Amino acid sequence: MILIDGKKEAKELREDLKTEVSELKKKYNKVPGLSVILIGDMAPSQIYVRNKEKAANEVGLKSEVIKYPDTVEEKTVLEKIEELNNDITVSGILVQLPLPKHIDKQKVIEKISPSKDVDGLHPMNVGNLSSGYQGSIPCTPLGCYLLIKKIDSNLKGKKAVMVGRSNLNGKAMAQLLLQEDCTVTITHSKTKDLKSECLQADIVVAAVGIPELIKGDWIKQNAIVIDVGINKTENGLVGDVDFDEVLKVAKALTPVPGGVGPMTIACLLKNTIECFKRSN
Ligand code: NAP
Repeated sequence: MILIDGKKEAKELREDLKTEVSELKKKYNKVPGLSVILIGDMAPSQIYVRNKEKAANEVGLKSEVIKYPDTVEEKTVLEKIEELNNDITVSGILVQLPLPKHIDKQKVIEKISPSKDVDGLHPMNVGNLSSGYQGSIPCTPLGCYLLIKKIDSNLKGKKAVMVGRSNLNGKAMAQLLLQEDCTVTITHSKTKDLKSECLQADIVVAAVGIPELIKGDWIKQNAIVIDVGINKTENGLVGDVDFDEVLKVAKALTPVPGGVGPMTIACLLKNTIECFKRSN
């Protein structure tokens, strides 16, 4: 049984990225820049953004956080994105989700230039991913993918089950595993028999938002299980997977916290560097 150490893997990735940034600096005499827009004062978003900024500074990126109160007008945010799109020192733009209700998420996502869309949510990048073309890949699925490949470099013919079909997680993850020649099933809240779908899987990726939904007897012996969920409970943070039960059957499992979360942030930095390289 392998307990996947997301913190260690993310640290290694950040070290590689730090080296890459210093090489890019020598070559271009400038470093990739990441601009994050944070709207409102929701505690989780504030924490995520603080961690992203710290990690960006650590690897040597130029980073800035632009903060607005949750009463900010949509027009102000769209104008700011336009300004960042035109700023050659900005390689990547991220608008921290969720947004206040009066701001149209789709308008905001589509306003970001696809070449600076480090979250990989712009329809152009979604299309690129599903067509197998170059573009930004959403950070969390990219992090999950890198963790899975570390466990098993040859995924050809493996059966992979996504639990959850959000654009941010399940759908993008499915595309990445499809490109690895997995046979992919995407499940969701209307799936008839989730347990039997999961039981067939060599790889399960759970991104649902329901504490400990996936039980030990839903998992095939020696499956790889990736837990994307982050759920606040009376007992602290837990994932979408019943950790103690699944640990007994899986070949490899990510813990929560300390699994997918740190890789998500490292992949945001990776995406920023990729955007910089493509634009130079
Ligand atoms: P989301 O947009 O709310 O999507 C949840 C998905 O789960 C939906 O597709 C939904 O199905 C499905 N679902 C709900 N109940 C289900 C059930 N009983 N059985 C099967 N599927 C069910 O959530 P998200 O943004 O993908 O996030 C999912 C979780 O990942 C959350 O806990 C979030 O905090 C966490 N997360 C973690 C990271 C990280 O870095 N670790 C990053 C992003 C998100 P329908 O489509 O039918 O509604």
